Amino acid sequence: MVEGRTHRPVIHATKCHSCDVCLRGCPAEFIQEYRTEEESLRGTLYRGKLAFQKSQDKIPLPPCQQACPIHQDARGYVALIAKGKFKEALDLVREVNPLPAVCGFICHHPCEEACLREDVDHSVPIRLLKRFIAEYGRERKEVKKGSKKKKQTILVVGSGPAGLACANDLCLMGFKVTIFEALPVLGGMLRVGIPEFRLPREVLQMEIEAIRELGVEMKTDHFFRFDGNGRTLKRSGFDAIFLSMGAHRSSTLNVPGESLRGIFPGVEFLREINLGKQVETGKKVAVIGGGNVAIDVARSALRLGAKKVDLYYRRSKKEMPAIPEEVDEAIREGVNIHFLTAPVRMIGKNGKVVGMECIRMRLGEPDEKGRRKPIPIQGSNFKVDAEMIIAAVGQKVDPKPLKGLDMNPDGTIRVDSKTGQTNLKGVFAGGDMVTGPGWAIDAIASGKKAAKSIEEYLK
Ligand SMILES: Cc1cc2nc3c(=O)[nH]c(=O)nc-3n(C[C@H](O)[C@H](O)[C@H](O)COP(=O)(O)OP(=O)(O)OC[C@H]3O[C@@H](n4cnc5c(N)ncnc54)[C@H](O)[C@@H]3O)c2cc1C
Ligand code: SF4
Repeated sequence: MVEGRTHRPVIHATKCHSCDVCLRGCPAEFIQEYRTEEESLRGTLYRGKLAFQKSQDKIPLPPCQQACPIHQDARGYVALIAKGKFKEALDLVREVNPLPAVCGFICHHPCEEACLREDVDHSVPIRLLKRFIAEYGRERKEVKKGSKKKKQTILVVGSGPAGLACANDLCLMGFKVTIFEALPVLGGMLRVGIPEFRLPREVLQMEIEAIRELGVEMKTDHFFRFDGNGRTLKRSGFDAIFLSMGAHRSSTLNVPGESLRGIFPGVEFLREINLGKQVETGKKVAVIGGGNVAIDVARSALRLGAKKVDLYYRRSKKEMPAIPEEVDEAIREGVNIHFLTAPVRMIGKNGKVVGMECIRMRLGEPDEKGRRKPIPIQGSNFKVDAEMIIAAVGQKVDPKPLKGLDMNPDGTIRVDSKTGQTNLKGVFAGGDMVTGPGWAIDAIASGKKAAKSIEEYLK
């Protein structure tokens, strides 16, 4: 909220909702934007002078910017798009986001949940606008170049969004950066998890190439492991390491019959498809789970030619961790979702799965994470037929290559919450291997944070 006469406007920092109306409305362009690069904090400049109600007041970040894990200035680029300033909008997005087109396609957009326009009609489609601006910039050559001014070399393990973001920022800071990727392809779960129909491969490749062009060296088919005695960093020849190896091991259902032929873990099923391997589903497919992986598996099975795809989830639609739009898409495409249902055993014939026995559930009290606990309804068991069953019930970090690193009880890597450093000096970690399976934009944020910590450490 701004008050005052022509030449002395005053911002009430506590009342300001950062709606931008004053910036856009001032005919003399007297009020201008001001941003500090380090913190992405915004204030407002009056003819070169920061003028808040009190000098120590800070104008709060707009809710959308606050909600975005990398504090992307959504309001800023949406306003620039509205003015037709597409190049400027793209530059603003790229200032903090090394994978804008990827986010434009698959970000779970917490910014839109926070958008105040929701109170009027519906939130601004911030993610779609980012996609639009990234598409506009497809032909525009990346202008930034890493300077490689600094002598120190950094190894980034894993080429998912956390690794790519960390490598991008470190390269721009002037370090020499090399990525080791175990798989023959780059991109992590963006490439071998998320199906192509949701994230076109040329979009991902374009953004990876832009990071490579900065000067980041990328080596595929390079598996990295710790030897367990803490000397790995010294032996590696690098000055610091950022680990971003994701959570690629599938959790199991823990029901009898799980080792029958025809039962697959969700991430492995998607990896096979994404690596171009031939996958036969049969006509009837059952999918178990309620997250993005389960939804992507079910939609992929339909595309592979399955005639009937049934998805079983033990809670209700409200509790599903998958992105709601993707759930609706799956239903529109013909996936039958059975809520409040869980498998109790797999049924086989001659060693091959032919179906499963399920039980109906009801929701009890909320658990420690606030989600209502599913409780089996005794005597409600029933059987279903299936030629293939795919379990997408969670992922874990593979501990095998991580000897010597402290882990949390859930198998994720323990790091200092401020710096992202592990128990080993000079070794940092981020992304899914620290948080457990999460979101791409959180992985990007953790990679960016680690880049800053590594710079600090190497000083
Ligand atoms: C099916 C599916 C759908 C999803 N949908 C969405 C979505 O719509 N929106 C969203 O925001 N998020 C989504 N996610 C989540 C998102 O993809 C992840 O949170 C994100 O990719 C995690 O990034 P990361 O960099 O931590 O790890 P990853 O992307 O998992 O990358 C880790 C990389 O490290 C490599 N690696 C592992 N071990 C080694 C080793 N020893 N040496 C060398 N390299 C190694 C792996 O091969 C991999 O390439 C989805 C995930 C899946 C599986
Ligand atoms: S990166 Fe995601 S959360 Fe951030 S502004 Fe873009 S769509 Fe919103």
